[in-house]
Amino acid sequence: MGTLNKQKVVIVGAGHNGLVAGCYLAKAGWEVLVLESSDKPGGGSRTEEQIPGYFFDMHSVAHNIINMTTIPRELDLAAAGLNYIEMNPFTVAVRGNGEFVRFYRSLEATVRSIAAIDREEADRYGEFIEKAYPIIRTVLTPITEPLKGAGALAYLKRLPDLARILKQGPTGVVRDLASPYQSLLHRQLHSNLTQGPVSAYAAHGGVSPVTPGPGLFGFWQAAFHMFGQWHAEGGSVGLTNALVRRLESYGGQVRCSAPVEK
Ligand SMILES: Cc1cc2nc3c(=O)[nH]c(=O)nc-3n(C[C@H](O)[C@H](O)[C@H](O)COP(=O)(O)OP(=O)(O)OC[C@H]3O[C@@H](n4cnc5c(N)ncnc54)[C@H](O)[C@@H]3O)c2cc1C
Repeated sequence: MGTLNKQKVVIVGAGHNGLVAGCYLAKAGWEVLVLESSDKPGGGSRTEEQIPGYFFDMHSVAHNIINMTTIPRELDLAAAGLNYIEMNPFTVAVRGNGEFVRFYRSLEATVRSIAAIDREEADRYGEFIEKAYPIIRTVLTPITEPLKGAGALAYLKRLPDLARILKQGPTGVVRDLASPYQSLLHRQLHSNLTQGPVSAYAAHGGVSPVTPGPGLFGFWQAAFHMFGQWHAEGGSVGLTNALVRRLESYGGQVRCSAPVEK
């Protein structure tokens, strides 16, 4: 009789966001059907054999934000076959003259790697990331802490971070966050050894280096020192396969080649 009373939901699109939502709803007892227009689930998290014997991620490659959340643990995606492998170093910047710098999750190891070429720039990079940590920790609170229950209290844990941000001087913080990331990086860092790799990730925010406003994307580099960067084993599709398996284990279904018209 219980199943007769189940609430039903149809989700349009089996990208990873639709699948995650489906898993949580199915876990909570809803009857879930995910309809996908393509012949396979995954959306931007698909890995295809583009050249015989070689598999390529079609869109997303590094799964970083999901690894800042409690989602993989709450859905026990490891038991559904998902294995994330950390890229450490997460960046190697190579110069034309053969010099290179490795950016590790460890800030200390990164600073040592920069210092082998430029001692002063290494110190500047270390100071830049230390300055960014409290900002990024505060901004990421809704992502890193589940907001139900004790989650709202997480903001209380951020009070020392807010104090550290304000200690930097309200004018400075507002200027940093409101300026284009190009000017932020030029103020804080002096060499293309660090500016290049940091701005390459800042550009993932989807705005140009000279657009006023997204200084935060420059500070985002600190998130990689806090949480690392991650690849799903077998490519992005590893996440999709695990989510589909988990959804099915909760009684949900994915139907492919099923475009929704209205
Ligand atoms: C080139 C590129 C590189 C990227 N690199 C990264 C990266 O490295 N790391 C990262 O985290 N993110 C990356 N992204 C972003 C990431 O791919 C997207 O944020 C993610 O795929 C969004 O997931 P989604 O589930 O919201 O939507 P999508 O993945 O777009 O899934 C939507 C699904 O809905 C289906 N659909 C749409 N309309 C209908 C309909 N009417 N009926 C039925 N089905 C429908 C689509 O076929 C699709 O499968 C990248 C994106 C691109 C384009």
